[in-house]
Amino acid sequence: MEVSRGEDILVVMNRAATVTQVDAVLERVRALGVAPCIVPSPGQTVISAADQPITACDHLSKMPGVAEVLRVPPAYRLVSRESHPNSSVFRVAGTTIGGGGFTLISGPCSVENEEMLLQTANFLVARGVRLMRGGAFKPRTSPYSFQGLGLDGLEILARVKRQTGIGVVTEVLDAETVPQIEAVADVLQVGARSMQNYSLLRRLARSNKPILLKRGLAATLEEWLMAAEYLLSGGNQQVILCERGVRTFADHLRNTLDLAIVPVVQRLSHLPILVDPSHGTGDARCVPAMTLAALAAGADGVMIELHPDPARALSDGPQSLDFEGYARLHKQLNAMAGALGIELR
Ligand code: PEP
Ligand code: MN
Repeated sequence: MEVSRGEDILVVMNRAATVTQVDAVLERVRALGVAPCIVPSPGQTVISAADQPITACDHLSKMPGVAEVLRVPPAYRLVSRESHPNSSVFRVAGTTIGGGGFTLISGPCSVENEEMLLQTANFLVARGVRLMRGGAFKPRTSPYSFQGLGLDGLEILARVKRQTGIGVVTEVLDAETVPQIEAVADVLQVGARSMQNYSLLRRLARSNKPILLKRGLAATLEEWLMAAEYLLSGGNQQVILCERGVRTFADHLRNTLDLAIVPVVQRLSHLPILVDPSHGTGDARCVPAMTLAALAAGADGVMIELHPDPARALSDGPQSLDFEGYARLHKQLNAMAGALGIELR
């Protein structure tokens, strides 16, 4: 992969700088590689220079007529589409994420017991769904709520995976449990609450498993892409973004699903982007419409919560589809994907 590794800088000239001095700086920047550009700035010349070698700052600040040289934060250079014009595509558990198809990930919010997980996995496999979600370690708002089965939940995931062949997506809450989760999961999920847990991101950057990075509860696009940049810059190129709704003034649903971020992410980044209509709305009645909307918006797939008996779910029952609802939605998805010429995966 070809990436730019230099620094982006701004050269601020003295107000009294001469045309010759400005030209000399422009000449030097050009000689170092990337063409400079002059930033409009009243009464003063400011030169923007991208991808300069790290010695450029020192060099340029000593030139006549230069007031100061500022380093521009590198932003999300590895995540950006500029660094990687082709969309990233990842092979995982016999399916593909990114690059034009629509990948389905589905399953319960939490792994509750082996029977419900096996039942769900069989249901999904029968419909050609290759990836099942299910949390063993749950980030709950209340310490009194069900926290997940932990390592026992992981063992259940491992057994159901062995029996059915389905791929597993599960959340990793802390760096300590990464090895155990890596041993079972095909995709490691970073939850909304952990999006800015930088020590966890640094650890996951050393994993050879794809990371599903959910958008933080109130994260801007830039904060989200910068979190992804931690993973890529640390060595893990397999990052899948997941929009799961953000907190706004609107209180008619659990979150505000920001579907409009999908085309923006796709313009700015080469990483695949999924949509989670379950957490995005918090209401199973809204999930089918928002799933179809995600397909229409051009998302690379969805992650949907599914439970054999949502009324008895230990977490997120109100936003989980039951098998019947899921089957109905799957049929609609097939029809719509067919009409759009998009492959359902
Ligand atoms: C989940 O997927 O079950 C979950 C906890 O999601 P989020 O981190 O988006 O809240
Ligand atoms: Mn959930």
